[in-house]
Amino acid sequence: IRWSAGRGWYDAQLVPYASLEIDPANMTLHYAQSIFEGLKAYRQPDGGVATFRPQANAQRFQASARRLAMPELPEELFVAAVDALVRQDQAWVPGAEEQSLYLRPFMFATEVGLGVRPSNEFLFMVIASPAGAYFANGVKPVSVWLSKEYVRAAPGGTGAAKCAGNYAASLVAQAQAAEQGCDQVVWLDATERRWIEEMGGMNLYFVKGSGKDATIVTPSLTGSLLPGITRDSLLQLAADRGYAVEEGRLSVEDWQQGNADGTITEVFACGTAAVITPVGSVKSAGAEWTVGDGGAGPITMELRKALLDIQTGAEADTHGWQHKIV
Ligand code: PMP
Repeated sequence: IRWSAGRGWYDAQLVPYASLEIDPANMTLHYAQSIFEGLKAYRQPDGGVATFRPQANAQRFQASARRLAMPELPEELFVAAVDALVRQDQAWVPGAEEQSLYLRPFMFATEVGLGVRPSNEFLFMVIASPAGAYFANGVKPVSVWLSKEYVRAAPGGTGAAKCAGNYAASLVAQAQAAEQGCDQVVWLDATERRWIEEMGGMNLYFVKGSGKDATIVTPSLTGSLLPGITRDSLLQLAADRGYAVEEGRLSVEDWQQGNADGTITEVFACGTAAVITPVGSVKSAGAEWTVGDGGAGPITMELRKALLDIQTGAEADTHGWQHKIV
């Protein structure tokens, strides 16, 4: 779907996957006016296909567009575009457990020019790719690197938007994490470099205590972390299961201390790609610790199953999150 100033949205097309031709002075290449979303379509027990909360993706896409001075695609157009592609590609939605069709809606500037200002033309597209289970051999805890040298987002910046530039800024820290033998980066706040924000492509949850008395805490949406749809769904699913759930602030010292005295029993990351992933160990410049026993905790696995069961249609969807397409 195209957009141009004065004309609005026009020219919706469903076309075979193909390369795009880009002018060397395309504004996106120079000024990164580019936003995206990620969601999954899962095969359902009746053979149909459903996506999970696509309206939430549409709304976050609009929020990202506002922050990047881009036009807001109406929610109905966003959802209809994703639905049309899933319908066309329905044979590509895998049937096996935890496999899905990953959908990537995105929008970028198409105007040609070198002046620094918002583009007057944009192209919105959706592409799809079958995605296997995130972990080939069951759930594997990840190791994380606490980045103190680099920050992903600062107050007033674009951290709450899903824009390409945020990911560009994160790559050097991801390379540093890999050099340290870690799988993922954990980002801290820009001002004090002390408060836990989120992971490279996932939000974080901390479990304090155990059993039904556990309290589950996730960092508040400060404006510099992405409001994950999985994060939002888990606030509800954890409360449904009787856990105390809080959005709050947690520092690196709180994490290290809570780990040492046993008050923090489990930590997990959540997002569309990995659903829920246990965090097994933490490393930063000068400190290193194992989370709990380093394995996948019971509450992590309980919530993981609760969410996947809804997404794959194994359990009743009492919140009306599933969007049936086929
Ligand atoms: N944080 C970042 C930086 C991300 O890229 C993602 C993935 N979209 C998330 C968190 C998790 O968001 P969601 O649950 O909507 O996939």
